[in-house]
Amino acid sequence: MRKKSIFLVGLILVLALVFTACGKEEEKEPVNQEVENQVDEDLGKEESADDSEVVLDEGEEILEEEPEKVEPKVDWLTAVSVWTTTDLNLREQPNTDCKVLTTFARGTELKKASEENGWAYVQCGDYEGYVSMKYIANEKPKEEPKPQPQPSTSKVEAIPGQHRDPNSIVVVLDPGHQGKGDSTKEPNGPGSSTMKARVTSGCTGVASGVPEYKLVLEISLLLKTELENRGYTVHMTRSSHDVNISNMERAQYASSVGADVAVRIHADSIDKESVRGATILVPSANNAYVSHLAAASQSLGKNIINSYCDATGFKNRGVSGNDTMTGINWSEVPVAILELGFMSNPTEDMAMQDDAMQNNMVQGIANGIDKYFGL
Ligand SMILES: [Zn+2]
Repeated sequence: MRKKSIFLVGLILVLALVFTACGKEEEKEPVNQEVENQVDEDLGKEESADDSEVVLDEGEEILEEEPEKVEPKVDWLTAVSVWTTTDLNLREQPNTDCKVLTTFARGTELKKASEENGWAYVQCGDYEGYVSMKYIANEKPKEEPKPQPQPSTSKVEAIPGQHRDPNSIVVVLDPGHQGKGDSTKEPNGPGSSTMKARVTSGCTGVASGVPEYKLVLEISLLLKTELENRGYTVHMTRSSHDVNISNMERAQYASSVGADVAVRIHADSIDKESVRGATILVPSANNAYVSHLAAASQSLGKNIINSYCDATGFKNRGVSGNDTMTGINWSEVPVAILELGFMSNPTEDMAMQDDAMQNNMVQGIANGIDKYFGL
């Protein structure tokens, strides 16, 4: 009997130990899981069971769930040259639902490595991806009819195909800023996660005390009259100070009225009185949104800044590529931002308030627009 009792007590103890051990083992797993999840979060990524959710490092945009990726067949040794027959999107995948990597201008030479189902895998500079076979050819497309040569003393010629009758040309003028800035945010470009203030109120003349938004509207109104006298159709994004129109909305307005070009009028300011001169900002060829507008915008910019500085005698600070301006990145037409001069330079600030100088400024800008269109 005693032996049996001892055996039973022993059995109970053994079972109790086994259960305790099992309980502990069961508890361990979720803890380990939690630690693993923690590590994944620290690495900035998280794996889910079906792999459909991709969380990227901070700063990168989160992409929509994508269909299975097609791996391209690439052999650059046997690649052949092809040319775009229109302005053409380069895509990440061989379909139109995916991301557009860039847009090539008509007549761009591409290296084609392979083709399948109507899509070619191509390379151009730093870019690789797919283009639709419908819009490429084995020969360079012929140039569009050239305009009649115009006698011109300008150092910069209008780009081919730009010779136009002013009566058929729509110019949008965007006098920068407005009476009161609006610091609420808008995307810096289509699809961008970078947010910038909708519109700021601009700078103020150090000697004149005149705010930039007043100077640029005054010049823009004079320029509108001058361009209309030359036959152009002109629309303005604003004609008073009491408005609230963001930089994105200004760019969209230009497209909505069928603008051929958008000229945005601003004035500069810097923390140093001696700095002077005029600058013009245009999208660069590497702009993530409007690289296809870079060449035309640069031509527009060069023609305007050269004519403007000829007419005013202001220092020519040249054409500057800029890809951070919301009003440039949202543009759908060639665009240039003219910085008239430095309001932080007392001499230039006062000069820009002078009636005779304002007339020179306006004539200079209008001459540059004429030259851009080959007139
Ligand atoms: Zn400004």
